[in-house]
Amino acid sequence: MEKVSIIIPVFNEEDNLELLLAKLQVLTDFEWEAIFVNDGSKDQSAEILDELAIKDKRVKVIHFLRNYGQTAAMAAGFAHTQYDIVVPLDADLQNDPADIVHLLAKMAKGYDVVSGWRKDRQDATWTRVWPSNLANSLISYITGVKLHDYGCTLKAYKKEILQEVKLYGEMHRFIPAYAAWHGAKVTEIEVKHHPRIHGQTKYGLGKTFRVILDLLVVKFLMDYSTRPMHFFGLAGFYSLLVSFIAGFLAVYLRVAGLRHFSATPLPLLTAIFFLLGIQFILMGIIAEILMRNSYEGQNKTTYKIKSKINLDDLK
Ligand code: UDP
Ligand code: MG
Repeated sequence: MEKVSIIIPVFNEEDNLELLLAKLQVLTDFEWEAIFVNDGSKDQSAEILDELAIKDKRVKVIHFLRNYGQTAAMAAGFAHTQYDIVVPLDADLQNDPADIVHLLAKMAKGYDVVSGWRKDRQDATWTRVWPSNLANSLISYITGVKLHDYGCTLKAYKKEILQEVKLYGEMHRFIPAYAAWHGAKVTEIEVKHHPRIHGQTKYGLGKTFRVILDLLVVKFLMDYSTRPMHFFGLAGFYSLLVSFIAGFLAVYLRVAGLRHFSATPLPLLTAIFFLLGIQFILMGIIAEILMRNSYEGQNKTTYKIKSKINLDDLK
């Protein structure tokens, strides 16, 4: 029998938990555990979860000290899974546990990550669906991993994929991109989505902006994490170039008798861009030192090997 660990972040979902556990009972073909991570709920969620865990040993509960956010809740859940397939799921009944069957069926065809796509999404159009569509196109374009719905919590992962990724901020949505970047096979299937009936959404329009900022970080880490100098150094060179052109123009205008130094902003631009250029290069050097430190401190390699033949690990 296939075994699956279901991770459920919970923040003030008191009216949904019991119903959710009832819906999980459709999973009769698998052995499963449901790890509920109570992310500092202020309602009765904690008490309800404790009761559910007494009644059903497959229910496991982690209580956070306070609210750390959905990504942290998911990371804590991932760290406590015992099975090889991991499926995160929202606690608010917007995702449908019955879809887990379809995700796993797709995964059995040889994929490492199967992402849910809420094609018919039941959230506020203006503040959630449209901004999210925009964000998804942007993420797909920039990461090169084309998915319609990065934001959907309901996805299925092979556990070894999750061991590679460290989750910060609101980064859980980028796991498929990270995974693909490490060579995983990623695909998506349509999943059902229901309107939220009990409790309230924790997010609004601001979420999209935060996602776009996170995307910048992901993009930077993907392209430059092992060579930050190429990023900062290039910015530094361009700044110095602008500085020299501005300086040259200023001197030229002065020598040709066309403009006095103080009659144009060019000397100011020369100074500003010169300083900026030097700063960028210094920042690049600092980033290189930090990066090397972190790799060497943890004995990490800058590459990941998929498999080896006739070679043993050296002691
Ligand atoms: N959640 C959480 N911590 C938070 C915010 C949300 O654990 O700080 C949980 C929440 O209980 C739900 C899931 O994350 O199970 C998704 O949240 P929500 O339904 O509010 O997001 P939406 O579906 O509106 O995007
Ligand atoms: Mg929701």
